[in-house]
Amino acid sequence: AKNAAALAELVAKSERDGPKSHGLAMLPRYRQSFESGYANPAASPQITQIAPSVLRGDGDNGYYQLASAEARAPLIALAQETGLAGFTCANCHHLAALRFDTEALAEAGLIAICVVNSLALSGPHGGQKPVFGTNPMSFACPRPGRAPIVWDQSSSVVALMDIKLAAQRGEKLEAPGGLDASGRPTTDAAAINDTLSLLPFAAHKGTGIALMVEILGAALAGGRLSTQTEEKAGFGALNVKPGVTMIALDPARWGHDGFAEAVAQIVEAIEAEPGARVPGDGRLAKRATAEAGGIPVDDALLKSLGYSAKSAKTG
Ligand code: NDP
Repeated sequence: AKNAAALAELVAKSERDGPKSHGLAMLPRYRQSFESGYANPAASPQITQIAPSVLRGDGDNGYYQLASAEARAPLIALAQETGLAGFTCANCHHLAALRFDTEALAEAGLIAICVVNSLALSGPHGGQKPVFGTNPMSFACPRPGRAPIVWDQSSSVVALMDIKLAAQRGEKLEAPGGLDASGRPTTDAAAINDTLSLLPFAAHKGTGIALMVEILGAALAGGRLSTQTEEKAGFGALNVKPGVTMIALDPARWGHDGFAEAVAQIVEAIEAEPGARVPGDGRLAKRATAEAGGIPVDDALLKSLGYSAKSAKTG
């Protein structure tokens, strides 16, 4: 029940704020991971303090959200005590969207940086064969008088789940997001879904970020490398057991009394630009709409999950 509640919360938040690709569309994948025996539905993660400012998590082969929920309070306490604390987690499954994890720390007054590696889908710039996952990262920071700044993004042009959704809907991408069967960059989501070879964002710069995430995520935490997919393949599974690293900083311990004011000024400068928004604030607009009028769910998606729109409204 604890596992189901953690995943249900993640799915609901993803449907509400985005990314929808990590919402209800993930349910069959979660089910597959339990039914195949790849993930432990009764996981009981262990969190151990292994250095004055470092917590290490063993996810007990369950989903990451359980371990992170257990680590959150001690991580916040350590960061407040020392100014800087870290949490790594391995032996866990799919982190999904990073934004909810970093947001919780920023709500407690901390700056948070989180990375996780994933399944090899993206070649290093100039190469063909995938070495990195879509290796996402997130940054969150308290913002005076308002909800925290929180952004998260993959290090590929487009996240895999969004390629899959676009392929299902027969949509083209706005810009080339992967390679087709002949190794050429393409906007054809279905072709990329066939090759599973995604492009890093911003060419060599994206490769640098993906490399950092692979090292800080998989290598530091002891997760499976993005290329180590044999076990996953054996279970016919759709995710890997990645490595996660979360770094939390308490700005109150870093010696600059004007931190909050400086953040407010940066935000003000962005918002003074017509057409610009603080990265991640799109989620707040979606959240406000959902709070006012409910969370819209795609009919076709509900049908594919075995629900009718009517039963979902009442059930
Ligand atoms: P997007 O490109 O959709 O968005 C990246 C960030 O930019 C978001 O914080 C978004 O927030 C913000 N943003 C988007 N448009 C603008 C704009 N016009 N101005 C300012 N900010 C903007 O993200 P990705 O497709 O790369 O990733 C999607 C999700 O998938 C993420 O949540 C990521 O954590 C997750 N992911 C998870 C993986 C895993 O293995 N666990 C692997 C890869 C990705 P907003 O629109 O709310 O403002």
